[in-house]
Amino acid sequence: MKIICIGRNYIEHARELNNPVPKEPVFFMKPDSAIIRNNKPFFLPDFSKEVHHEIELVLKIDRLGKGIDEQFAHRYYHEIGIGVDFTARDLQRIAKEKGLPWEKAKAFDGSAPLGGFLAKEKLPDPILFRLEINGKTVQEGSTADLIFSFDKIIAYVSRYITLRTGDLIFTGTPAGVGPVQRSDHLRGYIGDQLLLDFVVK
Ligand code: ZN
Repeated sequence: MKIICIGRNYIEHARELNNPVPKEPVFFMKPDSAIIRNNKPFFLPDFSKEVHHEIELVLKIDRLGKGIDEQFAHRYYHEIGIGVDFTARDLQRIAKEKGLPWEKAKAFDGSAPLGGFLAKEKLPDPILFRLEINGKTVQEGSTADLIFSFDKIIAYVSRYITLRTGDLIFTGTPAGVGPVQRSDHLRGYIGDQLLLDFVVK
């Protein structure tokens, strides 16, 4: 399986990192070794001094598709979950300056803690989600503020890359990203449901 991540999909987050609001989706990938399941701890990597949290809604692809038309994209996922796209912001800054790929900053081991999933049809529209650190809400998002809808993302990505059952799409983070420290306790919610709960070590 593979993990596809969308960058800059909420206007306020694009602005907080001084990025332009994109005219088409920006995407990158993480390998399956990035995933942490079952609320296991996240270990800060030794190569970064600035690892940022990015809370994101995650689509679970459950059907094979290539060149999917936007109007049929909803048939390719039936569960939505929550995850963190951990980012070594210091390494990403250097990569951006030099025009280099982002993998070292985004795709490292453990950079994608993944929580539980909920059936799409049971979720409200818009979907609200948030990240708490040590009991304080630090990021709040609503799918009402997406630049590119989930169906647009699936249509766009599948022009380039075949989507397979089990693939995950991280759909972008809202504003409020920031560094995590050792012993921080992170909790991710969709609505009032706690779906992700882990510590930083
Ligand atoms: Zn992200």
